[in-house]
Amino acid sequence: MIHGHWLKAYGINGSYEHAEVAPEDLEAFLRGCGADGFVGGNVTIPHKEAAFSLVEAADGEAAALGAVNTVWLDGGRLHGANTDGLGFLANLDDGAPGWDERKSVSVILGAGGAARAVARSLGRRGFGAVVVANRTAARAAAVAALAGEAGRAVGYDELWRWLPSADLVVNATSLGMTGKDRLDVHLGELPGHAVVNDLVYVPLETELLAQARANGNRAVDGLGMLLHQAVPGFERWFGVRPKVTPELRALVEADIAGQR
Ligand code: NAP
Repeated sequence: MIHGHWLKAYGINGSYEHAEVAPEDLEAFLRGCGADGFVGGNVTIPHKEAAFSLVEAADGEAAALGAVNTVWLDGGRLHGANTDGLGFLANLDDGAPGWDERKSVSVILGAGGAARAVARSLGRRGFGAVVVANRTAARAAAVAALAGEAGRAVGYDELWRWLPSADLVVNATSLGMTGKDRLDVHLGELPGHAVVNDLVYVPLETELLAQARANGNRAVDGLGMLLHQAVPGFERWFGVRPKVTPELRALVEADIAGQR
């Protein structure tokens, strides 16, 4: 829907298609990309790490995260990038201008693939502490390490120590998504200036965001990250840097509302 909208908006004669590829077929699929008429694509779960190992050149984000979400052919060579961190930051820049003026403490809930990009981005933005809380301790430690010296791995039972001084809270678990369990986190102790961001975007208004708004905190949903991470791919494949507009957002929002 996102790329289809941009193709139409910029009058480009191209297409963006969905292909379901089994893990054992990924290498052949990616190597056959040009011959199939594709100039590139997005790669999603469970292929992001395997695709990283198959690309011939990777950008710095992909190399640091060991995962790609965007691939494209350039001179017959397959290139890969990871645009999740860029999408995450652009979404906060748009949705909560000035969000990084105070950057003592950020708290990330979850330590999966999305949390990796978030931790690295917050470390690079200069947060003093990037606290990663996760059910599985080993994954929290691995993600915290991506934030450099600022990274701290904790369990959910230690959140109470960090929330009262947090400037930013990000939900990077899959909890709170339609069809999944609730995310059981209480934001009561958060300072009033803190920004709360949920990467989950189905539903758009999660319980966590509703709680943040009721608390008087600024709340940013996850849709903008999805829209912004798509920009570099479209530019690589079709040669135009597309804009994330209110019209595009409204289109995708209506689709999400239909999925509830
Ligand atoms: P993932 O790699 O599967 O990670 C899932 C995370 O959720 C892990 O930290 C996992 O903890 C935690 N979790 C799952 N069930 C749990 C439970 N019952 N109790 C406690 N923790 C639980 O997923 P992902 O790719 O990082 O995606 C995470 C979320 O971000 C998804 O909702 C996805 O849709 C969203 N996302 C949004 C965007 C966007 O553009 N807005 C981009 C990427 C992802 P363990 O490590 O302990 O298993």
